[in-house]
Amino acid sequence: MAVEKYHMFIDGKWVDSSSKETSDIVNPATEEIIANVPLGTKQDARSAIDAARKAFDSGVWSEKTPAERSSILWRMADVVESNALRLAQLESRNVGKTIKYARDSDLPFIIDNLRFFSGAIRNMDGKAAMNYSGLGLSMIKREPIGVVGAIVPWNYPLYIAVWKIAPALAAGNTIVIKPASYTPLTLLEFAKLTEKLLPKGVLNVVTGPGDVIGSELALSSKVDMVALTGDVSTGKKIMQMGSSNLKKVHLELGGKAPMVILPDASVDAATEGAIVSAFWNTAQDCTASTRIYVHESMHDKFVSMLVKKAGKIRIGDPSKESTDMGSLVSARQRDRTEEYVRSGIKEGAKLVFGGHRPRSMKKGFYFEPTIFDGVTQKMRICQEEIFGPVLSIIEYKNVDEAVEKANDVIYGLAASVWGRDVNQTLGVAGRLKFGEVWINEHGILVSEMPHGGFRQSGFGKDLSMYSLEDYTQIKHIYVDQTGLVRKPWYYVVYGDKD
Ligand code: NAD
Repeated sequence: MAVEKYHMFIDGKWVDSSSKETSDIVNPATEEIIANVPLGTKQDARSAIDAARKAFDSGVWSEKTPAERSSILWRMADVVESNALRLAQLESRNVGKTIKYARDSDLPFIIDNLRFFSGAIRNMDGKAAMNYSGLGLSMIKREPIGVVGAIVPWNYPLYIAVWKIAPALAAGNTIVIKPASYTPLTLLEFAKLTEKLLPKGVLNVVTGPGDVIGSELALSSKVDMVALTGDVSTGKKIMQMGSSNLKKVHLELGGKAPMVILPDASVDAATEGAIVSAFWNTAQDCTASTRIYVHESMHDKFVSMLVKKAGKIRIGDPSKESTDMGSLVSARQRDRTEEYVRSGIKEGAKLVFGGHRPRSMKKGFYFEPTIFDGVTQKMRICQEEIFGPVLSIIEYKNVDEAVEKANDVIYGLAASVWGRDVNQTLGVAGRLKFGEVWINEHGILVSEMPHGGFRQSGFGKDLSMYSLEDYTQIKHIYVDQTGLVRKPWYYVVYGDKD
């Protein structure tokens, strides 16, 4: 297959890097070069920021009515829908994820997300108005923030990009977005598909290294908000850089999601849930279940059923309909997973499934679904985010111990509780210090459900009305209706006491 050459999208034009340098994009399942993209520079990032600034300040986008922006977002969804299969195939080739997940999960969700925010913006304005007994009127107005710099990762390249683009544009902001260096292709295709729908400068895509392009977005005083989905360490840097002009910072960071399996849980349902949520997208998912707390009464049955189900996962060519698990995104991610497996063994965990590169795959960054039993809380595989297919089982004696251990990580993104007693599952869900907790389920995300973490998993929400609100700032307007000059605050609150 020919190596396709891409350009960046800045101020409505398709451009090369100002340095003329490019970088190769690899299919991680075959290790073949599939495309070539510009290696953007700080100068390119600045041009994109200037274009977004100019577009925002001109009002060409922010002053459109909600109905107008809504209709454009809806048309963006339509154009993505008409090209969904092609985009899914490209995503699968660029990430190594299976075609069936890219086609049946990523793309439908992207389209739904654009439509959700297209509808949501019609419900945004005119939220609060309070009349002070005819003396004055207090109004709350939500306004766009301005220029948004968005930085996205490689595990769901277009899907997470749209989580930022849709609410940012719906709210009237303009945006400069940087895809991860490994996986820029579907976002560039998205920009091509939607370029005629948006005024120039409203959406800009700059490709290149995180510490060049991403840091310029975080540092620039012309950017009003920076939104990152990425690693905790990157989030910390972005927060520091964002303080340059005290821009709003929105962070969706890593996770180390626990599943707490209560003694009355269905072992069949919980093992099924564990397999899907642990190995979905080759475990390159911030909500992936990575630590399973299993009650001692069911431990042996749980492990043997889990291992049996893991044995049915078909690993291989992601473009094949029959494949359940594709490759990891890069050699680096595969090597990192391997290193964690070595550390698990060294620290005394018991490897009960997988743990190797599959022998049948001669090319590609594949790794077997891997399960460790006998894991203890202090082991690195229990504490650190691996972002590769490694699942840890930790046996517990009582529920308090399970909750305490589930909470005992720096992350707070997602968790799940499994059991039949509704009160007990709700009680445990309430005690878990995570931004989203599922009961008898692990991983469901729908456009109207907020997604975002507690603690070092960041702050701010993707998806839902809360995300739309995050891309706005609140302005309070007070209108005097008395015509009097003297108006101390108590006059408005309690009326004239003179
Ligand atoms: P990463 O932090 O290395 O990169 C994320 C993005 O930040 C990329 O575009 C990268 O180029 C950019 N970047 C890297 N260093 C930068 C710097 N110094 N300044 C500015 N930008 C920089 O993360 P990744 O490896 O691409 O993705 C995996 C991570 O993302 C995991 O930790 C995962 O949990 C997290 N993630 C979180 C969510 C969520 O919703 N919470 C979703 C998906 C992934």
